[in-house]
Amino acid sequence: MRLCSFDLQGESRAGLVLTDGSLADLTAMADHDDRVAPTVLGWVTRGRQGRTVLDQLLQEASTARYSVDMGDVSLTAPIPTLPRNVICVGANYTDHIDESERVVGALDLPDAPVYFTKDVRSICGPRDVIRVDPRSTEQLDWEVELAVIIGEPGRDIPADRALEHVWGYTILNDVSARDIQLTRNQWWKGKSLEGSSPMGPYLVSAEEVGDPQQLDLSCWVDGEQMQHASTSQMIHSVATIIADLSTTLTLLPGDVISTGTPSGVGLARSPQQWLTPGRTVEAEICGLGHQTNTIMKERHADG
Ligand code: MG
Repeated sequence: MRLCSFDLQGESRAGLVLTDGSLADLTAMADHDDRVAPTVLGWVTRGRQGRTVLDQLLQEASTARYSVDMGDVSLTAPIPTLPRNVICVGANYTDHIDESERVVGALDLPDAPVYFTKDVRSICGPRDVIRVDPRSTEQLDWEVELAVIIGEPGRDIPADRALEHVWGYTILNDVSARDIQLTRNQWWKGKSLEGSSPMGPYLVSAEEVGDPQQLDLSCWVDGEQMQHASTSQMIHSVATIIADLSTTLTLLPGDVISTGTPSGVGLARSPQQWLTPGRTVEAEICGLGHQTNTIMKERHADG
């Protein structure tokens, strides 16, 4: 099943994608049905039990009474305000490490996963305009990634049970200001420009996705394909990352783990390319949907 969040007349609402492609407004339904959570985070917190109820709702004819047309709504990130920063994995595809090392020199990477975080305020919707202030960065770059949303809490999770803790998956474009990222001795600031990083369009349940290591991911800029790879090429699998993180942290419902990007970023192209005002970036993962975001100059950058 697929969940999303959308704005309707200025109010954030949760939606369930129905078999005919329309959306059931779960927030409206929650006023009349005790089984229904009014937010996507509410469903994620309910874990597997919540997915069972959503399955029931998809079977019930009465769900269609809350149907809204996809064309009438504006999709936001599936969880519009995340409860905590996004946990990101860096350097998780060999070909991306190789292309990065050609530009910045040897990365001297450990065998264990490399982590950094992305501020919750950096997340935007899958169709939003990304506003960039050229005074802050002139090197905005793209990174299509598979993002994992935790549903069942856990600590010291064994790798062979790790996927049982996943509620579902979505797309995250880990948009990165390279001129900030690579000059500050840490990555958080350059990875956390406000409203820069599209998430969505859907949170797709783990059951519907199946094996998270068999997904094609792609990214285009102005229609030209820049990235194309398979999640089978990850160095550290989703299960390994969950197991590793949970040795020192209790993973909680609503935690988002972004699993790294393959090669093809603007930093490593010759000549280098950036997301400058007027350009459009698209990201897609098979079965998870498609993002389209246009870059615009931040209005106050003129002043
Ligand atoms: Mg990344």
